[in-house]
Amino acid sequence: MAILPPLPDDPLVVEVTDFATRHKLADRYRELDRNPAFPREEYRAMGRAGLLGLGTSTTLGGRGLALPRVGLALFHLVYRSGTVFGKLSIQPEFSSVLADHGSPELVEEWFRPMVRGEKVVGNQITEPGAGSDAQGMTLSATREGDGYVLTGEKSEVALCMDADAAIVYGRVPSEDPRGKVTAFLVPQDLPGITRDPSSGDLGERWQRRGLVTYDQVRVPLRYRLGEEGMGFEYLRTELTHDRALLAAIYLGAAYASWEATVEYARQRTVFGKPLARQEAVSFPLAQDFARLSADWLYTQDALSRLERGEDAAAEAALAKWVAVEDGLRAIDHAIQFHGGRGYSQDLPHEQRWRDVRAGGIAHGPSEIMLVVAAHELRTRQSPAPPR
Ligand SMILES: Cc1cc2nc3c(=O)[nH]c(=O)nc-3n(C[C@H](O)[C@H](O)[C@H](O)COP(=O)(O)OP(=O)(O)OC[C@H]3O[C@@H](n4cnc5c(N)ncnc54)[C@H](O)[C@@H]3O)c2cc1C
Repeated sequence: MAILPPLPDDPLVVEVTDFATRHKLADRYRELDRNPAFPREEYRAMGRAGLLGLGTSTTLGGRGLALPRVGLALFHLVYRSGTVFGKLSIQPEFSSVLADHGSPELVEEWFRPMVRGEKVVGNQITEPGAGSDAQGMTLSATREGDGYVLTGEKSEVALCMDADAAIVYGRVPSEDPRGKVTAFLVPQDLPGITRDPSSGDLGERWQRRGLVTYDQVRVPLRYRLGEEGMGFEYLRTELTHDRALLAAIYLGAAYASWEATVEYARQRTVFGKPLARQEAVSFPLAQDFARLSADWLYTQDALSRLERGEDAAAEAALAKWVAVEDGLRAIDHAIQFHGGRGYSQDLPHEQRWRDVRAGGIAHGPSEIMLVVAAHELRTRQSPAPPR
């Protein structure tokens, strides 16, 4: 298994590196922070190059790569560009509920175009009154005639202003007072939908998050994804995969900062010797290398387990948790050891820090990663150690 530093000769690594260089993605990453927008042009180019849905099956238009290979590609894409393009690459994986549970017509109409980079599909789970505890969601989906009527609010939504459609989770009333959580694909231009952008974010600004309000929105029956009441189960499966892939993204960003800092520390002289010879600098950099390498192997282990069809909810949650913790620490060291310029927007470290920081909240806060892992490990028959 590959350990850091990365493998420059792997054809997949060469491919994503070439793509990032050709499309000047590192510059675009900085630009999207200053002028937040959904990068439609790059998204289309990624679709044309087969870089969207790397892990999506070939029958659905994806590349069908094994998950550890997808993780490798994401790591290198982000290492050469920025978190934005790793997240774009896994938009189809973020929409696996549509791929796995949508009707063939819906998949044809929405999922395949997304893999080609032609359509953007978001996810709407969080509500003003229910985030970490998503089971508390209240958006109602009432059966009426040949469809459902959706009423309620979805908050903190990424791609709020840019998604052409979203996978929306709501409750269908039932004998169970909590109702049945059900997933729907909802085109975002239906009458009754209002989209309000938030006032701006610390990082990942291109996502242009916001609030989506549903006021008696009529959704045809064929837009329901799978069975009534199964939405939460579907979501759980998807989030597990997402979290392990996100860990690879955050590690790619952190490794880029770590590597740049080692190079800088070799060259920058203070008090008559290179920074790299000051133990207060070189020891943290060595520790970061150990942590990022270990996290990379752990992430690859989580992805391998998922690829084998094993239950790896704990490993995926812990991979994201530890990648964010150690990634942020490494990027913080990059800011610190570059001195005054490290704190400035002349260098990419502060943006990377802000973007990776989103990983401590999005796709479940870090505390929830520990809640998930603790629950899984407590209830597992025989916890399998990493291989
Ligand atoms: C960049 C970004 C993108 C996002 N994109 C989307 C999206 O596309 N769609 C979507 O639906 N949502 C999205 N979210 C929302 C995100 O999923 C929620 O913010 C997250 O689940 C937390 O929910 P909350 O904000 O309601 O916080 P709360 O649930 O109110 O929790 C607040 C804080 O309390 C702590 N906490 C919560 N529960 C526990 C616990 N059991 N034990 C200990 N501490 C706890 C955590 O620190 C948590 O951050 C995004 C968020 C961010 C930052």
